Amino acid sequence: MICPICGSKGLNTTNSRTTRSGTQTWRRKGCKVCYCSITTYEKPDMGWLSIKNTHGSSLNAYKKGVLYKSIIAALDDKELTKIDVDNLIDSIEQKIISTHKTIIEKNELIKIVLNTIKPVSLSAYIKYLSSHMALDNKRQLNKLLKDI
Ligand SMILES: [Zn+2]
Repeated sequence: MICPICGSKGLNTTNSRTTRSGTQTWRRKGCKVCYCSITTYEKPDMGWLSIKNTHGSSLNAYKKGVLYKSIIAALDDKELTKIDVDNLIDSIEQKIISTHKTIIEKNELIKIVLNTIKPVSLSAYIKYLSSHMALDNKRQLNKLLKDI
């Protein structure tokens, strides 16, 4: 890595820590030439993850953009100005990583999303639930709503 300030290759790592339940690494680096300090974060790119259709055997590659859009769609305009969607996505990805699976069922992913957005916005939780969960009957929906 080169120094973003002066362009030299003289960067030393002065401190590093594992963050976010062990899924990310934070590093503080110092430039030997201009003495600036910079911070970097390393996290997995999620390219190894596949989503399995719950009622079938087809696999789809995980796409962060699809997850992002589905969460944006569940939030109203007022919430979008207050809620850090990138942070929500980070939390969801950490939970996926902590399952130690390279293939995750769509329903399991939906449950992870629901558990993550529930404490942030109850209306987004209900909106996401109604548009992503294949509910077989009214009793199932009532049970889920009762759990809130
Ligand atoms: Zn420098």
